[in-house]
Amino acid sequence: MKNWVPPQAWLIDIEGVLVRDKSYQAVDGSLQWLNDIANSEVPFCLVSNNTTDRPEILVQRLRDKGFDLSEDHLVGALPLGVRWLRERSRRRIMWLGQSDLQPYWQDEGFETDGPGPIEAVVLGANTHLEISQLDQALAALKRDGADLVCLHRNHFFLDGEGRRRLGPGAWAAALEPGIGSGKVVTLGKPEERIYQEALKRVGVQPNEALFISDDPVADLLTAKALGMTTVFTLSGKYTDHEILGRLDQGQWPDIIVKVPADLSAEN
Ligand SMILES: [Mg+2]
Repeated sequence: MKNWVPPQAWLIDIEGVLVRDKSYQAVDGSLQWLNDIANSEVPFCLVSNNTTDRPEILVQRLRDKGFDLSEDHLVGALPLGVRWLRERSRRRIMWLGQSDLQPYWQDEGFETDGPGPIEAVVLGANTHLEISQLDQALAALKRDGADLVCLHRNHFFLDGEGRRRLGPGAWAAALEPGIGSGKVVTLGKPEERIYQEALKRVGVQPNEALFISDDPVADLLTAKALGMTTVFTLSGKYTDHEILGRLDQGQWPDIIVKVPADLSAEN
C-alpha cells in the first residue's frame, strides 16, 4: 500500500465509481466527492469505455444527477474511435454496438448502410447483438479486408438492472481469428492510447496522476504499468477483493476503498 500523496490530477472511471451501473444511480458519497474535486485546483478527467451514449448525452446524464462536469472532462472510447477511423480515411463502417447510436456515426460523417465494401467493423456494447450480425461481420473481415475496431474489449458490464452482460470483448474474441488483410485495434481501456490521451488532457506525468476504477484488471493494470497511483473501489463490478487473486501481488492496486468518498478521509 502506497503512502497517500494527494495527486496532481485525477483520472476517474465512470461506471462503478461515480454511478453504480447503467442505471446511473450515484454511488454513495460520489456526488460530493467529485464536486469537491471539481471545486479544487487539481485537474481531473473521466476516462470512459462507454459506447452506449453520445459523449454529450453521457455528460448531460451525469450533470442531471448533480455532477459538476463539462464535456471537456470526458476522454471516451467513442470519440477515440471516430478519430482513429478518420485518420485512416475509413468511411464505410459496420457498427455492431447499440443500434440507437447508428445516427451518431452518421452525424460524424460515416456511412453505416448501403452497398459497397465495409472498411471497418466497429464493436461497442450491445445487449441485442444477434449471431447473424456477427456472421455478416465475419464475412466483411475476410471479403473486404475490413479492420476490426474494438472501442474496448471488456468481457462484461453491468446493465441498468445490475446484471452482468457480455461486452465487446466477447464479440472481439469471436471475430478476431477471422481477420483478413485488415488491422485489429482496441482504443479504450486497457490499451495505453486512452490513458495517454487522458494525461494530455490534465497535463501531468503518469507518476503525478491517480487512477480510480472499479475494475482492477481492465482499467488499473495499465494505469499501474504506466506509473500512476491506482485505486480500486468496491462500489461497482466487484464488491470484494476476490478478483485480486487473479493478479500477481505486484499488480495489485495501491489503495482499496469501499466507495471513492473514502479517499477524502485520506486527505
Ligand atoms: Mg467501471
